[in-house]
Amino acid sequence: MRMCAMALASSKSKWAAMTNAEIIKAVEEKQLAFYALEQALAPDYERAIEIRREVVKAKWCPSAADTHPLETVPFKNYEWDRVVGQCCENIVGYVPIPLGVAGPLLIDGKKIGLPMATTEGALIASTNRGANAINSSGGCTTAVLKEGMTRAPVVEVDSLEEAAALVKFCEENLSILQEAFESTTRFGKLKSIKCAVAGRKVFLRFVAFTGDAMGMNMITKGCDKALEVLKQHVPSMRVLALSGNYCTDKKPSAINWIEGRGKTVVAEALIKADVVEKTLKCSVDSIVSLNKDKNLVGSAMAGSVGGFNAHAANVVAAVYIATGQDPAQVVESATCITSMDKVGSDLLISVTMPSIEVGAVGGGTGLPAQRALLEVMGCAGANKEEPGANSRQLARVVAGAVLCGELSLMSGLAAGHLLSAHMKLNRKPPQ
Ligand code: NAP
Repeated sequence: MRMCAMALASSKSKWAAMTNAEIIKAVEEKQLAFYALEQALAPDYERAIEIRREVVKAKWCPSAADTHPLETVPFKNYEWDRVVGQCCENIVGYVPIPLGVAGPLLIDGKKIGLPMATTEGALIASTNRGANAINSSGGCTTAVLKEGMTRAPVVEVDSLEEAAALVKFCEENLSILQEAFESTTRFGKLKSIKCAVAGRKVFLRFVAFTGDAMGMNMITKGCDKALEVLKQHVPSMRVLALSGNYCTDKKPSAINWIEGRGKTVVAEALIKADVVEKTLKCSVDSIVSLNKDKNLVGSAMAGSVGGFNAHAANVVAAVYIATGQDPAQVVESATCITSMDKVGSDLLISVTMPSIEVGAVGGGTGLPAQRALLEVMGCAGANKEEPGANSRQLARVVAGAVLCGELSLMSGLAAGHLLSAHMKLNRKPPQ
């Protein structure tokens, strides 16, 4: 072990002592792997990235006279030590994305700013208008109904009888699997396992509390250990894959829509009739009627699973990018049913979102800008007193922001303003 560490240290100092041109040559001649530049030059990651950009230029632009293809892609003064080994490989820089803010939104009695990273003009203005209307009506309230990240390995046994016995074992011996799962994490708690059989294959949908983490790595690690123990009880069991798609991660699925994944959250607000008319420029009757025709009937006609909303994905994606969430999880996190009813003369609006997958620790949440924005929202990092409270708060804010977006876009459509707003804010006149 000691020798190993010493060999690594001496090979690192060998690369650090070489010139950039010598290292580029070594990469081109495959003496140093393209992906291993950061490892060889640690902790000088900026230098490693600068060298990779030169290797890329040589690969992509054979003529020396060509301008550098990454010239406008920045890479300096970034906290690369937070990225390497956690967020990205083969790094050549970062892509700056415009960041705006909507709100603050009065949510569960607190004013919270809504940071949104987007290139869709009109989105933040629209969300902000929704927040203004909600604030003028006393704010919105949220409820976290359910919490549990999921991972579903697929295993195979030798007969249908064994498949049935395996399911029975999981149902009757959850505590054995809980003990194995929870030996891998300080925060993860296995709550249940939902089994589905297809012939001799069994899909085991583990559901776990993952504290302030979104939890995919945590639950996958826990599942791996639980399967090791399960195999001791069902020796013929073979693990075909740690993920058998019954989870379901980053793909549309009815199971997430029905059972939930991550946090199941509802946000609602009662918007006063005069606010609907003055701020949102439509009537309560027209927006309620449009919600039925578009978000319910239209989405049903389209055969949608979880798409009973106007544009929840727009808001979820912008907040996720701003706060370092895994953006591919917008697929299920943005499933949402938007409900509207006339109560007295006012508008009751709610969004019900069964699968908001967010974390306040892990993934991209520790990057400096993303972390700062989580701090603005009052939910950065691990909550020491009550693990899980920060990620639940973030999920509530995501639902509140979606509520703003739904209210504003639906009123814009009801009033016939959608196209004019986009022509003004989303398309510049030809220059
Ligand atoms: P993670 O950063 O891998 O794990 C969270 C870490 O934070 C754990 O080490 C945990 O401790 C620690 N921690 C400290 N305080 C905590 C608290 N209050 N609550 C919860 N954890 C706390 O994060 P993850 O959420 O499990 O995984 C997120 C990453 O998985 C993202 O980068 C995402 O892109 C990626 N991802 C992975 C898969 C996959 O299949 N593996 C799929 C999709 C996405 P313990 O070690 O004690 O648990």
